Amino acid sequence: MNNDKTLHSEINKVITLLKAKKSIIAFTGAGISTESGIPDFRGPQGVWKKYRPIELSEVLQDPESRALYWQRKIDMYPQMKNAVPNKGHLALFELYKKNFLQYVITQNIDGLHQRAGMPDDRVIELHGSNTYIACLDCRKRYEWEDILPLFEKQSTSPKCDECGGWLKPATISFGQAILEYETNEAERIASAADAIIVIGSSLQVYPAAGIPVTTKMNGGSVVIINMEPTGQDEIADCLLHGPAGDILQAIAEGVDERAILKKKREF
Ligand SMILES: [Zn+2]
Repeated sequence: MNNDKTLHSEINKVITLLKAKKSIIAFTGAGISTESGIPDFRGPQGVWKKYRPIELSEVLQDPESRALYWQRKIDMYPQMKNAVPNKGHLALFELYKKNFLQYVITQNIDGLHQRAGMPDDRVIELHGSNTYIACLDCRKRYEWEDILPLFEKQSTSPKCDECGGWLKPATISFGQAILEYETNEAERIASAADAIIVIGSSLQVYPAAGIPVTTKMNGGSVVIINMEPTGQDEIADCLLHGPAGDILQAIAEGVDERAILKKKREF
């Protein structure tokens, strides 16, 4: 962790850098949501250290695995439903309102950027979302509130009323293909950005770790905010090791709203 004086001067450096940039994006990982009580699934205390992950093929083929999969999701539902955005999410929305942020690309599935105010079309969810349910075949969207009561009425997992496909929370499961549209959008946006702020990601797992590299290779600047060192610290123009919420709040307070840039629409 930086000491206070270093952190303060690094925050000022970020503010100066952002003021000189037009197309700014953020890339967020689990570290931004831990302050909202969302566990880091892959961390040392993560869910996957306690539970064996269930592969998509098991969800599709084995009724027992399917039931277990849904039971875990239902158990985690109240925590997800009640989670509220923290000052990190709110500061990013503040930057968006002040025209210092155009997009958020996220590895998180908690929907907290949108709950903080970010419009849906400004958030690219690389791993999908736990906040709604989708048909695995036709992608029709269902809401939790409509699906949960079905589990009390019937003993089997619900199916799509449109095509008969299996329903599942709209996240990427183990063994499930990446979301092509989201992945391509993230790549496009990261290439076009002239600055990326990475928050709460260890940047150790590809393809996610490649996103700031894409911005850097296209001439953009990289800001990294994380409690611990990351896999990409050496490419950072500004590196801040500390609590994401406080740091982002200080950055958002350090800039004044600016006029909407023409480029924002083209981005
Ligand atoms: Zn369907």
